[in-house]
Amino acid sequence: MTEFNKTSPIFVTQPALPPLAEFVPLLEQIWKNRILTNGGPFHNQLEEALCAYLGVAHISLFTNATIGLITALQALQIKGEVITTPYSFVATAHSLLWNGIAPVFVDVEPTSLNLDPDRIEAAITERTTAIMPVHCYGHPCDVDRIDEIAEKHNLKVIYDAAHAFGVQCHCGSVLNHGDLSVLSFHATKVFNTFEGGAIICRDATMKQHIDSLKNFGFADETTVIDAGINGKMSELNAAFGLLQLKRIDENLEKRRLIDRHYRSGLAGIKGIHCLATAGELVDNCAYFPILVRPEFRMSRDATFQLLRENGIYARRYFYPLISEFSMYQNIPSAARGNLPVAFDAAGQVICLPIYPELQSAQVDMVVDLIRG
Ligand SMILES: *Cc1c(COP(=O)(O)O)cnc(C)c1O
Repeated sequence: MTEFNKTSPIFVTQPALPPLAEFVPLLEQIWKNRILTNGGPFHNQLEEALCAYLGVAHISLFTNATIGLITALQALQIKGEVITTPYSFVATAHSLLWNGIAPVFVDVEPTSLNLDPDRIEAAITERTTAIMPVHCYGHPCDVDRIDEIAEKHNLKVIYDAAHAFGVQCHCGSVLNHGDLSVLSFHATKVFNTFEGGAIICRDATMKQHIDSLKNFGFADETTVIDAGINGKMSELNAAFGLLQLKRIDENLEKRRLIDRHYRSGLAGIKGIHCLATAGELVDNCAYFPILVRPEFRMSRDATFQLLRENGIYARRYFYPLISEFSMYQNIPSAARGNLPVAFDAAGQVICLPIYPELQSAQVDMVVDLIRG
């Protein structure tokens, strides 16, 4: 355990890092192999290991999730309009703009802050081709309802599963829902490869298609079949991922303990609402979002400031909403009146620090400041 003192800043997240000494032999192996990227041995090993760990059929590793989302839309040839949530990281909607697709924002539901299935059908037009929901904070979306709506209207579903590493719902991995799911392995996520991501798919033909798209569209040495992109994960990132995977269960368990510690510490504070835990079966405690309701003794921003002044760098995920950024704000569905639940949540949310090395005494410090 690393020492902490009361003056060192506490960030919202800190990446879990394996001992450097464990990385060295893998680096030596890369030097020996002289394969740095393009589906090298570590890349392929990580794909296999992740399929087994996550309980999914096929995975294609990417350089990051944003390129993964852009490629997923390409793989399914999505055009026209896509229904999505304003309550997410901006990359969700940006992936649509990069494909010339018009985002249509639909409000979230108040318990999970995920896309509200009751509001999806009203937003479908003849131009709608897909739904892009987000498992926000790792909470599974109402996957059955969304799959049902998609089937009824002949729409594709691409889940932005950037937060949902390791999350299990009633029928196994939440990543098995929809047509494709996209994970992020960015440094701030539960499982990281410095930068990285992956697309999960169900059949080998689709994996082959995605593998080709992430490698410029090459089918073989001399044949290019698509206007692909460079989305490949390097051997360095993949080798690092294999090390991370060895400790993932231990790290998830540490996150769960912190989550439970916050919940008991914050219980009964008037105006502080902790969002329900994520998984129906297995959650990943990727974030610890609280809503600072009007009954609390301070505003959300004053609470956020108080934490900052005490060296606690909590974050307002997700504020502002994606729909408030200049490239989205003039879309009709971005109107405040269309998104009341999302606007309320964005005005109340604070994500408190949570990461495996966060210590009990630090959690207590955060709780004591909020309690006042
Ligand atoms: C982190 C994140 C992304 C982007 O992931 P990168 O790997 O950084 O490209 C996309 N969507 C959501 C919801 C995220 O949190």
